[in-house]
Amino acid sequence: MSENEEKKVEKRKKIKITPIKHGTVIDHIRKGQAMKVLKILGLIERDIDFIVSIAMNVDSSEGKKDIVKVEDMELKNEELDKISLVSPEATVNIIRDYEVVDKHRVKLPDVVKGILRCRNQNCISNQDEPVKPEFEVVGKQPVTLKCNYCEREMKGEEISENVI
Ligand SMILES: [Zn+2]
Repeated sequence: MSENEEKKVEKRKKIKITPIKHGTVIDHIRKGQAMKVLKILGLIERDIDFIVSIAMNVDSSEGKKDIVKVEDMELKNEELDKISLVSPEATVNIIRDYEVVDKHRVKLPDVVKGILRCRNQNCISNQDEPVKPEFEVVGKQPVTLKCNYCEREMKGEEISENVI
């Protein structure tokens, strides 16, 4: 094996998945959250024409994890950061020509709009009013959100269960 090839193998080991040529790899997703991640990114309902692949229950040094690969699409950080609500440890790898050109952890936003519904059934954001659900991030460990309308807090499972 040439030195160059060895380097590539080394890189593959680092990202621990089949490499893609171009695109976005979301790694270290919490076990069982891959589908929520697709939902949050709008990749389920949207009519897409690029390849999306999911790996679930992949072994990693910190236990099991899920991985999502989106080929030929560099997703925007603004979109990707929403993943932190269900997987704060997730990392984003931007791949160009098989190389990881950018790698960073998702960042918890200050405000969350539209992607979750409030767990309070009586909340005005759950009525027919033209009011979009909106939450303030009030805690990071664990991630805790407070509804801007009824002030009800949500954390952990409550958050992932209420992804719209
Ligand atoms: Zn509410």
